[in-house]
Amino acid sequence: MTERFTGSFTQQEPIPEEGIEAALAVLRSGRLHRYNVAPGEVGEVALLEREFAVQMDAKYCLAVASGGYALATALRAVGVAPGEPVLTNAFTLAPVPGAIASVGAVPVFVGVSEALTIDLEDLAAKAGRAKVLMLSHMRGHICDMDALMQIARTHGLTVIEDCAHTMGASWNGVKSGRHGAVGCYSTQTYKHVNSGEGGLLVTDDEEIAARAVILSGSYMLYDRHLAAPDREVFERVKYDTPNISGRMDHLRAAILRPQLRDLDAQVRRWNDRYRVIEEGLRGTPGLTVIERPVAEHFVGSSFQFLLLDWPAEKVQAVVARCADRGVELKWFGAPEPHGFTSRYDSWRYAPSAPMPATDRVLAGILDMRVPLTFSLNDCALIARIIRAEVSAVHQVA
Ligand SMILES: *Cc1c(COP(=O)(O)O)cnc(C)c1O
Repeated sequence: MTERFTGSFTQQEPIPEEGIEAALAVLRSGRLHRYNVAPGEVGEVALLEREFAVQMDAKYCLAVASGGYALATALRAVGVAPGEPVLTNAFTLAPVPGAIASVGAVPVFVGVSEALTIDLEDLAAKAGRAKVLMLSHMRGHICDMDALMQIARTHGLTVIEDCAHTMGASWNGVKSGRHGAVGCYSTQTYKHVNSGEGGLLVTDDEEIAARAVILSGSYMLYDRHLAAPDREVFERVKYDTPNISGRMDHLRAAILRPQLRDLDAQVRRWNDRYRVIEEGLRGTPGLTVIERPVAEHFVGSSFQFLLLDWPAEKVQAVVARCADRGVELKWFGAPEPHGFTSRYDSWRYAPSAPMPATDRVLAGILDMRVPLTFSLNDCALIARIIRAEVSAVHQVA
């Protein structure tokens, strides 16, 4: 009998009951806007920001409308000007170069290594061309952050971290998002906590924090924030910081607070699933497992492997055969963007020179989501299916 997987790769868990209760209380109050609070009341958004700042060991936190909005706000708050080059990963998703383009800046792509992290040699070579690096921890793979920050210090680069896939992760004990000047997170449905849409930004820099708050649309109500700098910092920046509304509302914050309290437990559950898939695929001929460094405490909310130097038709055959058995793999080597998957050379608003070493890696990357609705048995089955199909295609001369 040929085994098939029948689960859904896009089905997340329900919102915890505590979040549903808190959301209903917000709905019953009618006060959904973050600055709409009764006398003496502290809103859900302000509470969320205070709690997330503590959780991330950060001085300041701002909750916003999306992860992409957090990234664009970070760029504005650190002072990126229109036309300015901003370094970023060639291996990432569209909201990252999109955030750079949204402020009129120009993405400059840095290559990807076989570990699926930013190529530090390429970064060092290009570092002199920009003042800011928007570092995407794409699919949760964290580069040697000590080495990266050394390059950043040498070249005076300000680092903004895109932690859409690393909320809850860390490198050498430092939480992801806390190496650079600003860390940005997404709370969109497919990330590590789910409010439909939403984003969070953390920083220890008081001026970046004050600008971000005003940018997000605080008017002059910034004293209702619990994880923002003192009033005098706002006095310094308020006249020259525009309002570009992108606030979070109380409903989303209410849903998020209990999920964030559970984050570490969820990370363990993701990693249990990740390890089952990893074990199941290890030793498959032709397939490269991405070895995770010991310094990297990652979140296995998705799984990648490489079919390095395989001809395109064979990779496509693996994708098709796995799909026939219910296993959805995304391929980063496809010439045209599909679904969530696109490549640096499909973002034509950001001109790029060919990057052969990066193209070789991208052409071999297969990617799959691992939602927590999958059981460990589901993960073992998925690994058996991939192993069988990769082996079958690999054997054909
Ligand atoms: C999802 C995502 C974002 C942006 O998140 P949104 O909340 O959808 O705007 C940024 N970077 C990466 C790599 C992502 O996958």
